[in-house]
Amino acid sequence: MAEKLSAVKGMNDILPASVPRTEKLPDSALWQWFESVVRTVLARYGYQYLLTPIVEPTALFVRGLGEVTDIVEKEMYSFTDAMNGDKLTLRPEATAGIVRAMIEHNALYNGPLRLWTVGPMFRHERPQKGRYRQFHQLDVEALGLAGPDVDAEMILVARALWKELGLVEGQHVRLEINSLGQPGERKAHRDALVRHFEQHADVLDADAQRRLHSNPLRILDSKNAAMQPVVESAPQLMDFLGPESLAHFDAVRATLDAVGLAYRVNPRLVRGMDYYNLTVFEWVTDQLGSQGTVCGGGRYDGLMAQLGGKPAPAIGFGLGIERLLLLMQELALPVPDSAPDAYAIVPPGTALPLVMTALEALRAAGVRVQQHAAGAEGLAGMKAQFKKADASGARHALIFGPDELARGHVTVKALREGGGSQVERPLATPAAWAPTLLQSRS
Ligand code: ATP
Ligand code: MG
Repeated sequence: MAEKLSAVKGMNDILPASVPRTEKLPDSALWQWFESVVRTVLARYGYQYLLTPIVEPTALFVRGLGEVTDIVEKEMYSFTDAMNGDKLTLRPEATAGIVRAMIEHNALYNGPLRLWTVGPMFRHERPQKGRYRQFHQLDVEALGLAGPDVDAEMILVARALWKELGLVEGQHVRLEINSLGQPGERKAHRDALVRHFEQHADVLDADAQRRLHSNPLRILDSKNAAMQPVVESAPQLMDFLGPESLAHFDAVRATLDAVGLAYRVNPRLVRGMDYYNLTVFEWVTDQLGSQGTVCGGGRYDGLMAQLGGKPAPAIGFGLGIERLLLLMQELALPVPDSAPDAYAIVPPGTALPLVMTALEALRAAGVRVQQHAAGAEGLAGMKAQFKKADASGARHALIFGPDELARGHVTVKALREGGGSQVERPLATPAAWAPTLLQSRS
């Protein structure tokens, strides 16, 4: 036998629930439902869909995310195109590519844009539950809009998603917000930070030592428990914000208060990319261990200009789909049924073309029908077929017995509620009775 191949470490198959597997990952049905909810909710807020390439020039991320960030320093899948020597990177996040595309197409010429996309991201991290090397994000961005109303809108978009998905805000997911102010304010804070960390140089780990002068703000983002006391006692950026930055933050908070959305101001919230300013936020959960952030974002008013475009304000967030769906699975939240409405049972000897014609008519009427397919040795016995029908989760069995077929009929048997009751239905008029098969879809 040929040698089996496996997926690349940290990169996963997202499979139907019926496929047994060892690693805890979301099921494909949950995944699809999430995507459908996303489409509905984003349309409600007037956001438009776009797709950008998975591969971008390496320089885009180095310039966009900042050289002294975890992602650029050690997490990027970068390679040289063997054909032409181009330096390329599998995107570790979506914002830089979207901004690149907007600049390239002069897309803000006609005014601001609200956009969203979904797709795979790549980061060379240590794989663990909720942390993978290929993972997927929903990414939502608003470009060309400067007001605090848009910051609040971003946060409300996420809240609307939780609501539709059955996650309870404040219980399953909590909001944390902060303001990073403007570059000048950050500079003053940075100088104070450097002084603080210099005084505690003995407890800094290697990463922090290295970043002390290149990017001390990143030290606040450290997950090293031993450093938490010195991180806790560090000077807070909030104390360095000027009146304009404070007014912007207050306006965001006023909207959140008005809509009754509870949040915690977390002065330590700094986020992993350099491009953020003013409002930053994260939606966190306590149920996924140290992979507790399901969604994070903020304002990045400087990025358009930094990547060579006309300056324009912008804000966005990224939501980790695997993490969110793992959380939903862990909470066992009810998910709409993706099981078939009906399973077609076909006794051996039945005329399959006739059956398949009838099933086509039912499907055209919107019914989800799974057919018991004939194997090489023909169709299995009725008992075996009924077992498959049960396992499929279908609420009805369609029994194409030779007698009913001869009368132009099919027997519809209730498999779940209505315990075994059965009726005959005419095959000539499927549209008339198909709706009864759709009833009690969850
Ligand atoms: P973390 O602090 O957990 O590393 P991050 O700040 O690096 O997260 P972002 O760059 O803000 O994450 O990405 C947005 C979201 O994408 C995160 O909140 C998380 O839900 C998800 N995410 C990030 N990295 C991974 C990963 N390696 N595997 C799975 N999901 C991820
Ligand atoms: Mg990270």
